[in-house]
Amino acid sequence: MAWTWYNSIVTKIEDESPTTKRFWLNVEDGKPDFIAGQFVTMDLPIHEKRLKRWRSYSIANAPSDEEDLEFCIVKLEGGLASQYFFEKVEVGTPIKFKGPSGAFCLREPIEKDLIFICTGTGVAPFRSMLLDLINQKKAHKKIHLIFGTRYKEGILYEEEFSKWQETHEFFSYSVCLSREVAIDQGAVSYELSKGYIHEVYKSHYKNPRTDIAFYLCGWKNMVDQAVETLNVELGYQKEQIHYELYG
Ligand SMILES: Cc1cc2nc3c(=O)[nH]c(=O)nc-3n(C[C@H](O)[C@H](O)[C@H](O)COP(=O)(O)OP(=O)(O)OC[C@H]3O[C@@H](n4cnc5c(N)ncnc54)[C@H](O)[C@@H]3O)c2cc1C
Repeated sequence: MAWTWYNSIVTKIEDESPTTKRFWLNVEDGKPDFIAGQFVTMDLPIHEKRLKRWRSYSIANAPSDEEDLEFCIVKLEGGLASQYFFEKVEVGTPIKFKGPSGAFCLREPIEKDLIFICTGTGVAPFRSMLLDLINQKKAHKKIHLIFGTRYKEGILYEEEFSKWQETHEFFSYSVCLSREVAIDQGAVSYELSKGYIHEVYKSHYKNPRTDIAFYLCGWKNMVDQAVETLNVELGYQKEQIHYELYG
């Protein structure tokens, strides 16, 4: 299959946490069409061999949003792309990418409650999906976002999600911190707990229902464990579990 390659320019960079930044890319010839949940594959100048230069990133804003594409990228210690994004990329840096591609998208019409489970930047496709549903006023049922990270300072898009949980009756938001010592539930309006996200969805959805669908996104260990827990331990059907692996 012939890929379309796009040229883009970084237009804005913002810190989202001590180890995560948001990058906005303006695409020459206009933003490509995409479905919320999809990713692009960037060709970054980090290696001589072409295939070793490619890294995928989920689009974090909605198809109908502003003109630029948004990405939320974490700095992995020793990572070539991480180093490039955090040490070299600045406003004006050109970035070439192909896509958008991927099938980690919501199946419409949405007839089930949706449970989004993610850690770290795995939240990006869910933010795109949520923005798309809200902005386009698409029909859907209840949505529960369960987000995990190590410390409070690592919570991504916290202000936005906690506001939605207050203003949108369909939306609930749970955050789980694996290494934070002091958990102050009184300080926030959403459900905040200590530990791993597996405990959160297990406590909410321990009795299998056919009217819900799980969407998981993040690094392999978390996703593998969640699929196993939902399917084998809790008894959900594999058809109810959809996932995207970051590596
Ligand atoms: C479909 C898809 C979408 C993605 N979307 C995003 C996104 O929106 N945001 C984002 O930040 N990343 C995303 N990724 C991951 C991204 O493509 C890169 O893998 C990531 O940026 C690391 O690249 P790197 O070159 O910095 O690290 P590499 O040089 O490839 O790896 C370097 C280091 O990372 C470590 N490492 C590898 N895997 C893991 C892991 N699972 N957990 C911890 N450390 C690990 C390695 O041990 C090594 O030390 C996505 C991946 C896929 C497949």
